[in-house]
Amino acid sequence: MSESPLPTGTVHLVGAGPGDPDLLTLRATRLIMTARIIVHDGLVDPAILAMARPGTRMISVAKQRARHTMPQDAINALLVAEARAGNDVVRLKGGDPFVFGRGGEEAEACRAAGIAVDVVPGVSAALGAAAAAQIPLTHRASASIVSFVAGQCKGLTDQDWAGLAGKGRTLVIYMGVATAEVIADKLMADGLAPDVPVAVIENATRPTMRVLRGPLAGLAALVGRNRVKSPALIVIGEVAAEPETELRALAREITA
Ligand code: SAH
Repeated sequence: MSESPLPTGTVHLVGAGPGDPDLLTLRATRLIMTARIIVHDGLVDPAILAMARPGTRMISVAKQRARHTMPQDAINALLVAEARAGNDVVRLKGGDPFVFGRGGEEAEACRAAGIAVDVVPGVSAALGAAAAAQIPLTHRASASIVSFVAGQCKGLTDQDWAGLAGKGRTLVIYMGVATAEVIADKLMADGLAPDVPVAVIENATRPTMRVLRGPLAGLAALVGRNRVKSPALIVIGEVAAEPETELRALAREITA
């Protein structure tokens, strides 16, 4: 007697947002709370993982002390194997799965294996950080273009960022803490003024959030002096300037 094959499961690529559980979408919340298997990376906040039912199989593919992150191929294979075994899998990622999240690679691997994929967007770090630090990424007075770039990638210095920052533009750099000095030098070599405002937002939307500000030329020193650690974002452009307060406006008037 031949057994009918198990129906394959679905892989849900789910954005967990930048940290604060309140920023999860309702769809992400529902999937997390009903999941039987959650495969998550290191950026997903523990408070979000704690929303899973007791008994949910939690598989971390994050860096753990000496152990390195699971290679992407192994993660893809894991998702495919679980779905083939008939399991629905919630693949939980920080921010949005399709913004520097390798969600594209996982979706391709599943589709190639004939596995159904469902993608649930999340609040990407740039949007969460901008809201939490009250930095509008666009503003009619100062920025009508916003770009997201990865600050940690092969051949960083050879990448063409010309035109992404400067007047009327906001540049948001993900994964740029370790390379802050190279980034500032690169942008200034491209002609950006050393006094362009910069904001560094560490642990955005979490209770430990810090917002640090300064001029572009001082970016490396700002990061070094304050021992900024990942996860952090760098926002470059007029919108990152210290907000005007009544006191500051008064001080300006007095010194003028
Ligand atoms: N898919 C994610 C990005 C993953 S890349 C998203 O859409 O947000 C990882 C980088 O995201 C980190 O190096 C950092 O630059 C940024 N990041 C993620 N969470 C953050 C947070 N809470 N605060 C500041 N930056 C964050």
